[in-house]
Amino acid sequence: MSQFWSPLVHRLTPYVPGEQPKLTDLVKLNTNENPYPPSPRVVEAIQAELGGDAARLRLYPDPNADQLRAAVAAHFSAYDIAPAQVFVGNGSDEVLAHVFMGLLCHGRPVLMPDISYSFYPVYCGLYGIEHRAVPLGEAFDIRVDDYRQDAGGIVIANPNAPTGQLLPLADIERLATEHPESPVVIDEAYIDFADDPMPTAIALVNRHPNLLVVRTLSKSHALAGLRVGYAIGQAVLIEALERIKNSFNSYPLDRLALVAATAAMTDSAHLDATRRAVMASRQWLTDAMTEMGFEVLPSAANFIFARHPQHDAAQLAASLREQRIIVRHFKAARIDQHLRISIGTDLQCRALVDALKSILNP
Ligand code: PMP
Repeated sequence: MSQFWSPLVHRLTPYVPGEQPKLTDLVKLNTNENPYPPSPRVVEAIQAELGGDAARLRLYPDPNADQLRAAVAAHFSAYDIAPAQVFVGNGSDEVLAHVFMGLLCHGRPVLMPDISYSFYPVYCGLYGIEHRAVPLGEAFDIRVDDYRQDAGGIVIANPNAPTGQLLPLADIERLATEHPESPVVIDEAYIDFADDPMPTAIALVNRHPNLLVVRTLSKSHALAGLRVGYAIGQAVLIEALERIKNSFNSYPLDRLALVAATAAMTDSAHLDATRRAVMASRQWLTDAMTEMGFEVLPSAANFIFARHPQHDAAQLAASLREQRIIVRHFKAARIDQHLRISIGTDLQCRALVDALKSILNP
């Protein structure tokens, strides 16, 4: 605390990111990174941009990210998305920051599930937005009936985090239809790990001017270290985000991020292969942990959310750590007996299962 701080800083409770350990010999299953490398085209694109003498780094990047926006639009050509409907930012966290500032600051409460991505309430604190947490159902399900109330906006992660539960597209369409005056923001950070046919709300944006879908390259594209995210919606929503961006940092992405993300968006075969590998391991891990007595929620993400009725979750996380495996444990009410476990490689998943067996049956 300091007298130099603004009242805003005094009021803030900042987000605490998952641990990024300095040790390298850990099985790291705590922050939902992709266990596989990104597309080889990413490395080629970065090398080409650096060139012999990195001369291009003298120059500012394209403030409009035209090539990347075109690549994102092309990736979603099945849904008839134009480049002008794409907004890009420095990770989806930054895209979301612009969304809260540019679309959700209306003086009316923003609705969100009570158990969800914990950055949303932090942004509300930062921008002075009132928010109302709508409780999840008994099975950690989002009940859209409960959202029939006055709202300055709705923010939902789909699949939800940290539960991994998927909200059907019909429910999202209902939210957009029942709140025609309010932005409905669907954060699809993990949706590439959902079963086919891909249940993305991008399929709905051209029918609903209030619907905005936020995505990231951190998970399915294995580029968490690059920091690229984007949003897709009708041009009227994108224009608001552009205005915020240009008032904040007119160069949101650097030259390397721009070329690398563009390359990643063009390699659908690589995306599909890694996504399928993660989904197969998710099934294997779910079965193995269920056999050990864990209750595992059905997951459409690259993590599972599980509890063991006879074992304290914090204790389990600590015991795993002693075996050099880190998973995520949240202290929040209702979920403090659960663990969120990112899906690793087959080898990592097997190491986790072996460790859990040794802890449960010493
Ligand atoms: N949304 C959700 C639901 C997340 O879990 C995360 C990752 N912590 C993000 C957005 C942010 O991802 P990034 O900033 O890496 O794009």
